[in-house]
Amino acid sequence: MSERWPLHVRILIGLAVGIVTGVAANVVAGGEPWLVNTTDYVTEPFGRIFLRLIFMVVLPLVFSALALGVAGLGDAARLGRIGAKTFAYTILATGLSVALGLLLVNVVRPGAGLPEETRAALAANASRGPAPVTAPTDAPVGLQAVLAIVPDNPLRAAVNGDMLAVMFFSLMVGLGLAMAPRETVAPLIAVLEGLYAVVMQVIELAMRLAPYGVAALLFTLTARLGAGVLRQLASYVLVVLAGLAIHQFVTYSLIIRFLGGMSPVLFFQRIRTVMITAFSTSSSNATLPLALIVTERNLGVPREIANFVLTLGSTANQNGTALFEGVTVLFLAQFYGVELSLQSQLMVVLMSILAGVGTAGVPGGSLPLIVPVLVTVGVPPEGIGIIFGVDRVLDMCRTVLNVTGDITAAVVVANSEHTLEVPAVVPDVA
Ligand code: ASP
Repeated sequence: MSERWPLHVRILIGLAVGIVTGVAANVVAGGEPWLVNTTDYVTEPFGRIFLRLIFMVVLPLVFSALALGVAGLGDAARLGRIGAKTFAYTILATGLSVALGLLLVNVVRPGAGLPEETRAALAANASRGPAPVTAPTDAPVGLQAVLAIVPDNPLRAAVNGDMLAVMFFSLMVGLGLAMAPRETVAPLIAVLEGLYAVVMQVIELAMRLAPYGVAALLFTLTARLGAGVLRQLASYVLVVLAGLAIHQFVTYSLIIRFLGGMSPVLFFQRIRTVMITAFSTSSSNATLPLALIVTERNLGVPREIANFVLTLGSTANQNGTALFEGVTVLFLAQFYGVELSLQSQLMVVLMSILAGVGTAGVPGGSLPLIVPVLVTVGVPPEGIGIIFGVDRVLDMCRTVLNVTGDITAAVVVANSEHTLEVPAVVPDVA
């Protein structure tokens, strides 16, 4: 495929080619030996190679991203009142967004409705991903649940694929980094940043295969199961979009009105260029410079607060990403017929919040971080192959939320410090 087209366009083409040829093959030759052999021995293994290139760096990614993310947040808390407020806001707003997503996905159940035998076929074909999947059957209760998260040996936890314990360990390392003397831990932070950069590079290499991987995975899915599965995929997309829209325009409006003391209409009007930029770049990081200018100039947030909250928020406060992760995990659980207890769902909330903290503000930054959540609650991680093809449009929308959430946080913090001075008129640009 021509390298001149942007990656997301090539992935979309891969998605279309996979679906069209897969559905056609299913109609013409569904169940015939040659088609079964093609999916079993060619397209499915190829799709899995692509996924495994990503799975294999999930462990170092979780460790470095979370330790660095928490070190950043911990630093914030050390910066006193403003840091503490930003920290509290991030956890609260992210928790709210995941809860909203989970509510929607439980009510609409976009992944449900596959016939039993189709589901059985899916489960039989599902790989076990980067580590043995241990579905939480006899879920521990009370303090035992906490005990299960705290590893006595982080290496064993990593080898066993106990991602929650790995996340807990990473979190503690992040706290340690934030609390230890800066000069002493600076080299370790540099190493973690190096590790993180390498992981990102490997993922970028793997993503070059994405158009073909997505084509192979969707061919396999539709050639085996027919066009019926597309209904599930479409309603999943709609649920994510509905969740994002509600959080963007209802939750943020309420927050801006009651905690920010500003008119939501004025707020959205004045940040519209930022929203458009976030939408078109799919990257909180790329939108940060413009967001800084607009938050200070159009909304009257003092520069120190805008700089601090937005810079931290562009990686740590990712409401859209967290909502998307929660919905995706539950959708895939429904798709594969994995029943998630209330406790497992709470685990999804917790891990999605952490994933929001650990995700980089770059296009598709959150995709690899869905894997540990899936593994922990016993959903086949290869499920992310199903959503790869539709991810770009979701990414564009969740990035708008991520960035709006950061600006909202800056307004709330400034207002609580009584330093918000919304200008009566603003220049036309931005
Ligand atoms: N693209 C998102 C951002 O930059 C991250 C993600 O959810 O993939 O905010």
